[in-house]
Amino acid sequence: MTARVLVVDDNAANIKLLEARLRAEYFEVLTANSGYEALEICGREHADVVLLDVMMPGMDGFEVCRRLKADPKTQMIPVVMVTALDQPSDRIRGLEAGADDFLAKPVDDIALITRVKNLARVKQLSDELVMRLTTMDQGIAGSDLINDINSKEAKGTLLLVEDRAAIAKRIKVVLEENHEVLLARSQEEAQGLLGKHDIDLVLVSLDMEGADALHFCSHIRSLGKTRHLPIMVLSEQGDKERMLRALDLGVNDFVIRPVDRNELLARVRTQIKRRRFSEHLYKRLEERVEQASRDPLTGMFNRRHLEEQLQAMIEDSLRTQKGLSVILADIDFFKSVNDNYGHDIGDQVLRQFSSRLQQNIRRLDMAFRIGGEEFLIVLPKTTEEKAQIVGERLRAVIEDTPFKISEGDDNITVTTSIGLSSVCSSKDTIDSLLKRADEALYKAKKSGRNQVVSNAA
Ligand code: GH3
Ligand code: MG
Ligand code: MG
Repeated sequence: MTARVLVVDDNAANIKLLEARLRAEYFEVLTANSGYEALEICGREHADVVLLDVMMPGMDGFEVCRRLKADPKTQMIPVVMVTALDQPSDRIRGLEAGADDFLAKPVDDIALITRVKNLARVKQLSDELVMRLTTMDQGIAGSDLINDINSKEAKGTLLLVEDRAAIAKRIKVVLEENHEVLLARSQEEAQGLLGKHDIDLVLVSLDMEGADALHFCSHIRSLGKTRHLPIMVLSEQGDKERMLRALDLGVNDFVIRPVDRNELLARVRTQIKRRRFSEHLYKRLEERVEQASRDPLTGMFNRRHLEEQLQAMIEDSLRTQKGLSVILADIDFFKSVNDNYGHDIGDQVLRQFSSRLQQNIRRLDMAFRIGGEEFLIVLPKTTEEKAQIVGERLRAVIEDTPFKISEGDDNITVTTSIGLSSVCSSKDTIDSLLKRADEALYKAKKSGRNQVVSNAA
């Protein structure tokens, strides 16, 4: 993964040092030697992560961070505060200013690369999701989505995996200030809890006595259900090698023991917020995709979705030689329903018509509203003869029971004309199939309506 990192520091030697380390990991690096310059670059250029020195003359890092987070254009850029004073109070000030993470000077290599990679990955993922959402729906602004994130709660259910009772207890007490904490003393116990609870974050102690923590982390990453679950490891100072292995396995973050209470809480909170945000974006994206393929009046699939689906279904039927038919149903004299009862009643008829169709087809079949009062049903694995039986059944289901409408006692008798066609040659396409169904429908209308006509080819 590559990303653009902006390094901001008033000290040229510090910039050089960070720049060299980042470049060694193939990051692209931009630099600024004051807060003003940093703001100017962020406004003008694309950056995935900002590494921000706290103490700078003129405008300090806290103020730069506040300004970046206040501007919708730069709000999404993750900010890491780099602080010489390893003071909890500084960290808290940084978080209050909206910082996403912090690094203590002198900057540790593993911490630097881990945190930058992590934030860059999060940034790129959210950039992509936001872009997909905003192109799909011009009405959504990126800034609305950001407000959505900020309103997300950062309270979660955590799973702590640690087999030493005294240490587990100390960590649990801290975490319980803000979260619900489940404790597992072994890998088996952890797996049981993961199966039963909706867990937001797993904290694994790297130096348990009786269990292989790295094995457990890789196991979580390999299972479909927990593949995206954030994992944080707790490690003793100096255990660099295992820490690197853990990060290679896809662990999201780490905290060194003895644990600093504020740091632990801040890191956990960040992981949970990110998880909430990406869950939220995915959910909205799914909703949009779903909406884009549905007709709002009847909830049926729309023509656009038909075009996306039908070609593959035709090819599938040619491959399996199982047949595929389509039924095109058009309501007879629907204009007069509107004329006699009004457009709202017309809409009710359309809704009932569509639900009758849907209730009388198999799960495998797909129903679409492709025009005002024109519906198409695609019947996979169905020959012409069988489709004719289905068509006749649908025709009868519409005619036999008059439509009940909400106002008054009026029942409206509705009939439908049906044209059907089936895949019959390897040259068949969406257009040829629909054209034949349309011709059949035209014949049904011409020969008196309320009937099924097939067009073999
Ligand atoms: P035919 O038997 O030849 O199909 O006659 P028809 O009246 O059904 O066909 P025509 O194409 O002349 O009219 C279709 C009518 O469907 C006209 C249009 O106003 C109405 N319509 C289309 N979409 C909607 C809708 O969403 N709601 C309502 N209420 N009416 C609609
Ligand atoms: Mg009609
Ligand atoms: Mg029509």
